[in-house]
Amino acid sequence: MASETQHGYLVLADISGYTSYLAQVELEHANEILTDLLAVIVNQFKQALTISKLEGDAVFANINESGMPNGERLLELIESTYFHFRRRRDASQRQTTCTCRACQSIPSLDLKFFVHHGDYIVQDISGIRELVGSDVNLIHRLTKNHITEQTGWHAYTLFTDRTLEHINIRPEGLHAQTESYEHLGAISTQSMDIHPRIIASNEGHPEKEIARRAAGDVVGEMSLISGDTRIASVIALGDVRVLCIDRLNFESLLRERPEVSLAVMRELCKRLKERSN
Ligand SMILES: [Zn+2]
Repeated sequence: MASETQHGYLVLADISGYTSYLAQVELEHANEILTDLLAVIVNQFKQALTISKLEGDAVFANINESGMPNGERLLELIESTYFHFRRRRDASQRQTTCTCRACQSIPSLDLKFFVHHGDYIVQDISGIRELVGSDVNLIHRLTKNHITEQTGWHAYTLFTDRTLEHINIRPEGLHAQTESYEHLGAISTQSMDIHPRIIASNEGHPEKEIARRAAGDVVGEMSLISGDTRIASVIALGDVRVLCIDRLNFESLLRERPEVSLAVMRELCKRLKERSN
């Protein structure tokens, strides 16, 4: 059968942190965890896409334009894939009692999506199906980019401009960035943070984002003062450097430096106001 050029979406889901993860940890457990997570991605993708290839840390899929008439469906698929990935990842972390580095580093694994609209040929060599074309090369090249560096995001969806023209939707909060690649030139991309888009279900209690904290902010001061258990967990969206102060030091700091007490009180008032809004 002669191969015909097809137009459609190329979608790549890439597990971030994979290379460093495999390099430094116990291979057997690492492999088990990764296989499990890749299967989650495949099972989600299969619902609307054709799986083209498993690429170690990535799942590559495609769909002919006619098979995805609605861009909304594509975004939903990515979102649900991320949701299931995170749920599985967090569940394996909770369930494991193993102290090996692989099992301990499960939270470092995250997921990035790359979506490109372009042309490709489905090549069949002795029954082995493969997608070829410069757009296929492009989407793979896009995995090497500066998004995390620029934004601090570890989980995102990157769209090429051409994709957004085709899906005809503009998600909110897009980050525009031009990447350049040898032989391909400058490629303009738009990326979207997918962390805030998921609401992880935690044993039937949906997780809810209460607030966002940034550099210089204080967390945990309420429970330190009241002695009660904390009311929320802090999830880092990127690399974070923290200064920890234990209760003893915190209390002596408050006693010795009235200006610190005042600053903490101001912060508490601000937080109370925030919560009553
Ligand atoms: Zn282990």
